Amino acid sequence: MQNSSAGKAKEKHATHEVFDNVACPFCGMLCDDLEIENNDGTLKVLKNGCGRAISGFERKLPANSPQIGGKDVTLAEAVKEAAALIGKADSPLFGGLATGVEGMRAALALAERAGGVVDHALSEGQYRNVKVLQSAGWITSTLTETRNRADLLIIVGSDIRKLHPRFFERIVSPPHSMFEVTAPKRAVVFIGEVPERKDAAGPQVGQVITLACKVEQIGEVLGALRARLRSFHINAKTAGGIALAKIDALAELCRQAKYGVVVWAPPTLDVPHAELTVEQATGLVKDLNQTQRFAGLSLGGNEGAVTAAAVTTWQSGFPLRISYASGAPQFDPYNYSISRMLAAGEGDLLVWIASISPDLTPPATDIPTIVLGTPGLKLPRKAAVFIPVGTPGVDHAGRLIRCDSVVSLPLKNLHRAELPRVADVLASIEAAL
Ligand code: SF4
Repeated sequence: MQNSSAGKAKEKHATHEVFDNVACPFCGMLCDDLEIENNDGTLKVLKNGCGRAISGFERKLPANSPQIGGKDVTLAEAVKEAAALIGKADSPLFGGLATGVEGMRAALALAERAGGVVDHALSEGQYRNVKVLQSAGWITSTLTETRNRADLLIIVGSDIRKLHPRFFERIVSPPHSMFEVTAPKRAVVFIGEVPERKDAAGPQVGQVITLACKVEQIGEVLGALRARLRSFHINAKTAGGIALAKIDALAELCRQAKYGVVVWAPPTLDVPHAELTVEQATGLVKDLNQTQRFAGLSLGGNEGAVTAAAVTTWQSGFPLRISYASGAPQFDPYNYSISRMLAAGEGDLLVWIASISPDLTPPATDIPTIVLGTPGLKLPRKAAVFIPVGTPGVDHAGRLIRCDSVVSLPLKNLHRAELPRVADVLASIEAAL
């Protein structure tokens, strides 16, 4: 719902509008309770915005025009040039993929037509999850379930607040819960490098425990916890630098929990073979489900990463890192990683889509690059073709999928700027092929 300050019937492009219940596209949580004012195209977050949301919505857009080789051209000329480059490429790479559901559908349609490879800019973090999900399976919760039910939260990793600034406010200690079943106080345990102990505060937070260790030691701590939950003997006095007595105390807390949740954000586990840490976290959940209710909750999904993976799965049957070179989708999480391909000199054209934040810089590469980007996107060098595009949920309506993968949220057109949708630009390029 939206309402104007004058209280009159709203018209598109009114000079002053206030939008409520706005969903925010600037991280994977997609908080949908923001209130935003549009004054002649200048947005102001009035309620419920974090710093990341404010810098996203209130960012001033630089002057922008479609460009070929750095020179301003019309949109039609840029589309024609992009189609020509894609038409003559043997192995086009479709990366970035920071867009909504409609943009992602169009990207897949174009990649299929062009015989290209499809991979999201942040898929390395996501693959820490995919490897575990494909090989071992897991039991997960949702943001809503966790917010309403959890009486024990074990938060694994670091920088969750940096990725999702309102996670603690909305999920760990929300002002209201949906049911009267939540324990009056929930225990919060941090295992990781930058313990965010001070963030776990509020009326719903009881005991807060910090088990500080390096990210690469988290798996060892979780492994020891799983062993002690099964009453296995451990000779060492510490595991991952944590005293065994503390791990035993956490095991007891787990046994007493009625609804425990292990939370992790794959991008924060940026160490080699971090999928083994995810496997320990999800294994802990499976172990505890033998006797009680426990679940995992994966965060992340910024820059439309969860949306890209979900749409690719619906359309092709595989999660990202696919190639249409043979005419049918082929999945290979190693060979079709675009960052690996570029480092190995593979691919002869990069099509980079970054419509959400200006920080999703295309990788430095010598091959020609077509960029569909939000104005102000940082570029390492001049793109062969640059087409400024709108941000879903700001410049046009759209849809994104939340980090827990269970809901897709509608995004409003806040009328910041008249910029084309990624979906429309890609459809025009495909039509011009
Ligand atoms: S936490 Fe994320 S989704 Fe919520 S307001 Fe901040 S940036 Fe937006």
